[in-house]
Amino acid sequence: MAQKLHQPIRMCVVCRERFAQSALVRLQCREGLLQPYDNEGRSFYLCLACVEHKKTPGQLARQCKNGATVALMNRLKEIIVNDG
Ligand SMILES: [Zn+2]
Repeated sequence: MAQKLHQPIRMCVVCRERFAQSALVRLQCREGLLQPYDNEGRSFYLCLACVEHKKTPGQLARQCKNGATVALMNRLKEIIVNDG
């Protein structure tokens, strides 16, 4: 059996499933705006399968304390595209 590499496990805020950190998008909100994590402050994780999840806009709104879910979702997609 191949030895398993040690990987940190994190939870997706939408589906609450646990994944290796490398399989998740790490995000944060600054002054209500969504952005990729910049190594400072609070962050949260989203798995790629949840990008189109019906609960994702609500979760982003909650994390960012910002009710502009359409703008948050557009920003999320931008972040994911730029990340890849
Ligand atoms: Zn998920």
